[in-house]
Amino acid sequence: MIEVKKVTKVYGRKQHAFKALNNVTFTIPDGASVAIVGKSGSGKSTLMHVMSGLDRPNQGSITVDGVNILGLKEKEIDSFRSKKIGFIFQSFFVQANESVSDNVSLPLEIAHVPLSRRKEKIKQALESVELLDKLDSKARSLSGGQKQRLAIARAIVNNPSIIFADEPTGNLDSITGAKIEDLLFDYNKNKGATLIIVTHDEELAAKTDIQIFIKDGKVEAIKDRLTIKKTKRKAKS
Ligand code: ADP
Ligand code: MG
Repeated sequence: MIEVKKVTKVYGRKQHAFKALNNVTFTIPDGASVAIVGKSGSGKSTLMHVMSGLDRPNQGSITVDGVNILGLKEKEIDSFRSKKIGFIFQSFFVQANESVSDNVSLPLEIAHVPLSRRKEKIKQALESVELLDKLDSKARSLSGGQKQRLAIARAIVNNPSIIFADEPTGNLDSITGAKIEDLLFDYNKNKGATLIIVTHDEELAAKTDIQIFIKDGKVEAIKDRLTIKKTKRKAKS
C-alpha cells in the first residue's frame, strides 16, 4: 500500500517559490492500476518523483508498505528504489551508447544482484517486451517504440512491486502506444504489481482502477472503482 499524506512540494525560494504540490492526500492499495491525470504543469511528474523517492517534498509523509520513505537516508532510499520500484520516464530515457543488454543490467547492478543471476533476468525481461533479438544492439539503433520497450524491460527486470510510468505513450504513434500500454497492464495483472501511470489520455485513464485528477498541484477528484466494487459486494452480502 502507498499512503500519500498532506504532501506539499515547493520549488524555488522566497519570491520565486512555487507550490507544485499542495496538501496532496490519497491511498493506493497493492496491485491497483492508477492513472494520475491533469493538464501540463499541474504537478503530475512532481508527484511521481516524490512518491518514488526521486525527490523530497517539503511537507507531508509518504509511506510505502508501512515504511515512511521520507525517514530513510539517501543510501536507504536508493536501495528501496532498486528493490521495489521500476520507473519509466516521459522521454525514452536510455543510455544510447550502451548495448540493450547493458541498459537492462543497470538496475540489477544497483540492487547488487549477483552476476551469475543477471543474464537470465535480462533475457527474461527482454523476452517479455519482445526485444530479445536486440540484446547486443546499441540502444541508439532502436526506434522510439523499441526504446520505450527497452525502458520497460529495464523497469521490470528486478521484479518491482510498483511501476511508475510518466506519460509512457506520449511520444508514440497510437499502435505503438497501445502495445506499450498492453505490456504495462500485463505486468500489473500477471505479477500483481501496482501500476501508476501519468497520462492526459482519457481513454488510457479509463482503463485503470483508480483515477487521481490533479489541478494546480491539488487533488481535484479521485475515481476509485475498487472501492465502489467493494462497497457493492458488502451491500449484497
Ligand atoms: P506535469 O508533469 O503535470 O506537467 P510538473 O510536475 O512537471 O507538471 O511541474 C509542475 C509545476 O512545477 C510546473 O509549473 C513546473 O514548471 C514546475 N516545476 C517542475 N519542476 C521544477 C523545478 N525543478 N524547478 C522549478 N519549477 C519546477
Ligand atoms: Mg510531466
